[in-house]
Amino acid sequence: MANDKKKIAKKDLARLLTEWGRQFALFTPSRAGDTAKMARWDGKDTSFLNWYRNTTIPAKNCFLPAVEEMFTFSRGSSGYNLKPTPAEEPGRLIFGIRPCDAKALRVLDNVFEDSYEDPYYLGRRRNTILVGLGCNNPYDSCFCTSLDSDPHDDAGLDIMLTDIGDELLIQAISEAGKKLIIKTGSLTKAGRADAARARKAREAARNKVSRRLNTSNIEKRLLDIFDDQGYWQQLARKCISCGICTLLCPTCHCFDINDEMSGGQGARCRNLDSCAFPIYTKMPMENPRAEKWRRVRNKVCHKYEFYPMLFDMIACTGCGRCIRLCPVNWDITQVIEGVPAAASG
Ligand code: SF4
Ligand code: SF4
Repeated sequence: MANDKKKIAKKDLARLLTEWGRQFALFTPSRAGDTAKMARWDGKDTSFLNWYRNTTIPAKNCFLPAVEEMFTFSRGSSGYNLKPTPAEEPGRLIFGIRPCDAKALRVLDNVFEDSYEDPYYLGRRRNTILVGLGCNNPYDSCFCTSLDSDPHDDAGLDIMLTDIGDELLIQAISEAGKKLIIKTGSLTKAGRADAARARKAREAARNKVSRRLNTSNIEKRLLDIFDDQGYWQQLARKCISCGICTLLCPTCHCFDINDEMSGGQGARCRNLDSCAFPIYTKMPMENPRAEKWRRVRNKVCHKYEFYPMLFDMIACTGCGRCIRLCPVNWDITQVIEGVPAAASG
């Protein structure tokens, strides 16, 4: 099967990106200070190959931005005039998305395709080619292998890349990926030795993911302790409700919608929200999650109990961001590992 595969020398990557950049709005890993995210390629820089492990801000932001304008409006003599926000560019390509972040998009797909089809999210999703780059150097905080995945998992991708030293091995995964590779001139044919190098890189990466999580029977285990207030209070003690773990989680998707208006002109905006915030569920007469322990319980149970009940999949990919970025070292793997065994019967 090695002749199905292509490759490109890393030193020639700008040539490939230029070629794809002529056909697509092209996004690559990019960083400003300590913060990395997927951003429009500047037409020359490929240095991300040297520093990129994963982005701080997940690739979900290319589909569900932290803030987005849904439409604008203006007050006229006979009421309000609405103007839709211009549609996305015809085609986008995200280069280098990590397998865990591609998996997170499948978690979001279930939500945004469910009872109501969200045109904003789905418009971008259906409009985007995903070119994944397997992780050869996962973080200590990563635990994707405990969640039916792998640092080189190609599920949900159109094209998969493997770093094999001075070159990237390139393999089509979806039909769209196949079509794109066929018409891409910058690539050369890969041989058996390249495929063997890729296999070795994949095995080595998998072995580097040392953090393990036992998720067996997790829905039932969480259900059994749901009403144990003392248990959740203890777990919530050190959390400071900053919301970082949810805003930067690739699977969290809660949002608020509000109208911004000034001088008869305005816009309806959708903004990411966090269930960690004290006012998240605040209503005029009550707040059902005013106490921190209730919010922490919701965060854990939503990912490992409620979402799996609806969609038969855990809403956590093991990307480890919430562990790396929490200012007080709150660790979801310790929490899940600490959930007692389910009562029998
Ligand atoms: S990042 Fe840490 S402190 Fe902030 S809300 Fe999440 S668990 Fe709490
Ligand atoms: S809960 Fe944490 S480890 Fe799981 S997907 Fe979200 S940020 Fe990643």
